[in-house]
Amino acid sequence: MTDTQTTTQARRIPAPAVNNESKPFWDAAKEGRFLIKRCGDCGKPHWYPRVICPYCFSLNTKWEESPGEGVIYTFSVMFHTHAPYAIGYVTLNEGPSMLTNFVDCDLASLKIGQKVKLRFQPTENGPPVPVFAPA
Ligand SMILES: [Zn+2]
Repeated sequence: MTDTQTTTQARRIPAPAVNNESKPFWDAAKEGRFLIKRCGDCGKPHWYPRVICPYCFSLNTKWEESPGEGVIYTFSVMFHTHAPYAIGYVTLNEGPSMLTNFVDCDLASLKIGQKVKLRFQPTENGPPVPVFAPA
């Protein structure tokens, strides 16, 4: 490692809050499966998973497995910490955008529009959380 290292390092991530609404998502995450919700009435997918469709307020929302592929919509790099990291929004191929962390990447080379792929990162005493790395 050098002083100019800008590659992400493993950051400790606290366990996410799990409630009844999000439990199926976190149960799937433990199995390495990424779920999003899609509305059975208007047909639109959304993130984060909710019982009620945010577009038409239908209760007819269903879980759907996603390959977790998308592009970087926007991002910020935090260089001035002991372990630099990047956070930002990824637009999934299905359409919704999600706030996330970027991992296993050269922080100086991240670009808007760059293709990324989801993976799960362990947390402390909780289910793994979705993060993204260059595809
Ligand atoms: Zn809807």
